[in-house]
Amino acid sequence: MTVENKVERSLFNEVMVPCYNPMEMIPVKGEGARVWDQQGREYIDFAGGIAVSCLGHCHPAMVNAVTEQANKIWHLSNVMTNEPALRLAKKLTDVCFAEKVFFANSGAEANEAALKLARRWAADVHGPEKSEIIAFKQGFHGRTFFTVTVGGQEAYSDGFGPKPGDVTHLPYNDIAALEAHISDRTCAIMMEPLQGEGGIISPTSEFVNTVRELCDKHNALLIFDEVQTGNGRTGNFYAYQGLGVTPDILSTAKSLGGGFPIGAMLTTSELATHLKVGTHGSTYGGNPLACAVAEAVVDVVSQPETLAGVKEREALFRDGLTKINDKYQIFSEVRGKGLLLGAALNEEWQGRARDVLVAAGEQGLMVLVAGANVVRFTPSLVITTQEIEEGLSKLDKAIATLV
Ligand SMILES: *Cc1c(COP(=O)(O)O)cnc(C)c1O
Repeated sequence: MTVENKVERSLFNEVMVPCYNPMEMIPVKGEGARVWDQQGREYIDFAGGIAVSCLGHCHPAMVNAVTEQANKIWHLSNVMTNEPALRLAKKLTDVCFAEKVFFANSGAEANEAALKLARRWAADVHGPEKSEIIAFKQGFHGRTFFTVTVGGQEAYSDGFGPKPGDVTHLPYNDIAALEAHISDRTCAIMMEPLQGEGGIISPTSEFVNTVRELCDKHNALLIFDEVQTGNGRTGNFYAYQGLGVTPDILSTAKSLGGGFPIGAMLTTSELATHLKVGTHGSTYGGNPLACAVAEAVVDVVSQPETLAGVKEREALFRDGLTKINDKYQIFSEVRGKGLLLGAALNEEWQGRARDVLVAAGEQGLMVLVAGANVVRFTPSLVITTQEIEEGLSKLDKAIATLV
């Protein structure tokens, strides 16, 4: 304790690259959906490490998996394969359309692999002119230079010199704009099947179906970025399963490791042939420790009870947020799916999402924002009813301090 207490938030400014502005408190312990800071203050966690801690903190299944594997073997590189990676890949192909898996360490890297596969496929099968990537405004796909360029917020990709080329951004949910633009030059469409960072925006059924039809018509690949929506978050194992539209390539990360860094790019056997030996790779990708944890996570999350539980918890959140709204008239709507929810602030409260986050922190509740006008909730998928109720009551108190 004493040693921990010497490490203070002020040290961040001294030794860390200032690309983040973390909260004042420093969490040191977590259990389920509860977290404690250095001073022993307790928090309810509705943030889940940004849709990562899908089984809460220190879930016994994850602790067992990491401990057991830590005593066996940690790392090999891809010069050899390993048992956890093979078992995890098999499980991922069992729970979704995919037949082949490429492991990475993060969402951005999974997306990087997806984009490189699409470009390589197009070059192999159709020739070099088929290189256009279509993506959507407000979309988010990670921070590597290719993925951040495909993401739909120029503020994130500007200022780093020449960008990877032939990337087009269109408005999300705008069928006419897509119909007018897509052509046989289009290599792939990359999209989130529910925009997370962009403000918790669901695609309309017509939009997502039209995207698939237009991809088929123009021989373009459909890439679903399920880094945030995947691994049970929306109540299906992958969100595409609730939309009835199957992509050709799917990227997954965040909740896949439940708090251990791992990402994966999933695809069909046919497409996978285009990433031959030597075309792509990763030193840590498929690391045994990471795969052992992810395997435990997939085992728990893929159980029908866990997925059904997400929908029950969604109902509790929606009920609670509606009651808070009846009291304070702060939200224009509660949107999203499963435990990827956004409470959009109404006219009067525009720009104040961060105020809500800070006030919640003061009451012992961790929430997220998605832009300036949406308070975002991405808690553990197995958060208890009591933790939900406690958290909502803290949110109520937090908002009371703002009105
Ligand atoms: C978080 C996120 C990413 C980036 O994942 P990292 O692990 O931070 O690289 C990519 N796409 C979506 C949709 C995300 O939410």
